[in-house]
Amino acid sequence: METMTSRERVMAALRREPVDRTPLVNPTSLATVELMDLVDAPFPEANRVPEVMARLASTGHTELGFDSIMPVFSIIQESSAIGCKIQWEQKDNWPTVKMTEPIYESPDDIPNFDGWLEHPDAQCVLEAIKILRAQFPDVAIIGKTMGPWSLAYHTFGVERFLLLSLDDEAATRKVLEKLKRLTIEYGVAQAEAGADAITLPDHATGDLVSGEYYKRYLQDMHHEFAEEIPIPIILHICGRTVDRMAYIAATGMAAFHYDSKNEPDESMEAVGGKISLVGNVNNPTTLYAKGAEDVKQEVQKNLEAGVQMVGPECAIPLQTPIESLRAIREAVVEFHGLN
Ligand SMILES: [Zn+2]
Repeated sequence: METMTSRERVMAALRREPVDRTPLVNPTSLATVELMDLVDAPFPEANRVPEVMARLASTGHTELGFDSIMPVFSIIQESSAIGCKIQWEQKDNWPTVKMTEPIYESPDDIPNFDGWLEHPDAQCVLEAIKILRAQFPDVAIIGKTMGPWSLAYHTFGVERFLLLSLDDEAATRKVLEKLKRLTIEYGVAQAEAGADAITLPDHATGDLVSGEYYKRYLQDMHHEFAEEIPIPIILHICGRTVDRMAYIAATGMAAFHYDSKNEPDESMEAVGGKISLVGNVNNPTTLYAKGAEDVKQEVQKNLEAGVQMVGPECAIPLQTPIESLRAIREAVVEFHGLN
């Protein structure tokens, strides 16, 4: 029997406390074209108009049975607010930063960012969180603030920033130090708007950056985020990350959103009970292309390993069928014998 509200369940799982059943949590986007059509909330409006953003986000709870609602479908809200050029796209594509037109070349180009939170693309998320908080008092509302490593990709271009990180440690640190203000300010503002927890994507991705790089450049800064942002943080890094999970677990962040390139068992072992795990259900193959039975098997593997929250590994493809997403809940209900 269910004895907790969705919100209580998610908050307990983030603290690794007992729950009545494993919560379904989406630290990243659950938006699909089907869901956009269902509630008349298409991209690009759902990325720019607070009411539309909130309406699309709420389908994760109302249609798919997730215990969380996460309204930030893209990774570009802050980057737009500080002046990056954005390709806004239509409902079949996420908006992206135009990487061919980076806005900074050296750390000295980075300004103070005074007043950046007033930009409509920054405000949109804050307003959407306020709407959702009022409408869903018993559901966990999750925000999103981009980490400085990701913001550096957007503002310098991926290649230029990765080269800098190999060539010039001092300059790299200067970039991260300057950009981290955005991460902290947006996190604090979303907490004040009513978010219960916040996803912090910082794309020191498995295939681009080594575990030692994570330790050198990001571990201390992530610890600082856990101190400065007053709600639980869910770190998101794609790819194979077992080599840095012990470092991540030591930051004081609440959870790590992990990729299907890592097995649930080895990941639980790597974090040693110091951080909760969420994610792992494969997007491009399983959720997008396979059927409900394969989805259930992956969820079950997580439940058997004792992973604290289940959900997709990353933002799901926009063409993912609703039936595959509903299978996540079915697997949890079956595992806990709740039918
Ligand atoms: Zn990802």
